[in-house]
Amino acid sequence: MKNISVIGAGTMGNGIAHVFAMNEYKVTIIDISQAAIDKGLATITKNLDRMVAKEKISESDKASTLSNISTSTEVSKGVSDADLVVEAATENVDLKLKIFKDMDANAPANCILATNTSSISITKIAAATDRPEKVVGMHFMNPVPIMKLVEVIRAYQTSDEVCSAIIDLSKKIGKVPTEVNDYPGFVANRILMPMINEAIYSLYESVAGVEEIDTVMKLGMAHPMGPLQLADFIGLDVCLSILQVLHDGFGNPKYAPCPLLVNMVTAGNLGRKSGTGFYNYSLGGKELVVASNFKKNESVSA
Ligand code: NAD
Repeated sequence: MKNISVIGAGTMGNGIAHVFAMNEYKVTIIDISQAAIDKGLATITKNLDRMVAKEKISESDKASTLSNISTSTEVSKGVSDADLVVEAATENVDLKLKIFKDMDANAPANCILATNTSSISITKIAAATDRPEKVVGMHFMNPVPIMKLVEVIRAYQTSDEVCSAIIDLSKKIGKVPTEVNDYPGFVANRILMPMINEAIYSLYESVAGVEEIDTVMKLGMAHPMGPLQLADFIGLDVCLSILQVLHDGFGNPKYAPCPLLVNMVTAGNLGRKSGTGFYNYSLGGKELVVASNFKKNESVSA
């Protein structure tokens, strides 16, 4: 594989493009928004600068990484000579099905079509194409240049050859691929989201406060971040939508999202990206400050 197209220049897309370009692949970033492309390129440049400052890479590594990246605002042009496309556009099932139809119609016949979706069925996405055996999940973790895991998700239709090719490629870019089957939440989110939901239930039922819950999990279970801080980092809307996928997919009440999470999302308190979630980020987020709704001695009002 030489030419890799990445669809979506957002949080995940620019990280995925960064990692492939740094490993000498020719990368085309495709996004419908030129502003998103400009922002994505600025993020890649800033992250490369940080790596140069820490002496992890040289100035010439930075220059060659950036020279490996080109951009396009049209899927049809951006995938025309791709060996692999990694789709990392907005998490919306109809949008992804449309993008995959477009990719299928415009990418070379032997091109593998991968998706970075956190929760949408890869089997359903594969079924929307005429090459279902070449569709696979390639679930990178945020932030992509730092996190080692790639959850490689085998759809019901994915061929052995395609799975092996993605596993080999993930190793070549310094990641640790782990193969799982395509069922709701795959493995990462099937285990993570019920834990986050349970942490929110513990707060909702006043078992403990925000800091106490996060401290127990950080110091007691050696988690680098507590579950409530992690939920803020991921985005509470994203957590809610993944829990809904688990709930719908398994029909099991144990995945029902906590009403407090639903209220917070409805109120627009989405975590770090909106400025408030379980913590308040208006001071920049360097120091963790519990959001005013959850301050001690106040009842949970969200
Ligand atoms: P994001 O909102 O930061 O970026 C999405 C980008 O997709 C935007 O720049 C948008 O302009 C672009 N886009 C929308 N429609 C498009 C189209 N038709 N063609 C091309 N580009 C289009 O989202 P994100 O957080 O980077 O998430 C992207 C994918 O990665 C989602 O499927 C998400 O579930 C998955 N994911 C996210 C995380 C995370 O922590 N953010 C982790 C793992 C997986």
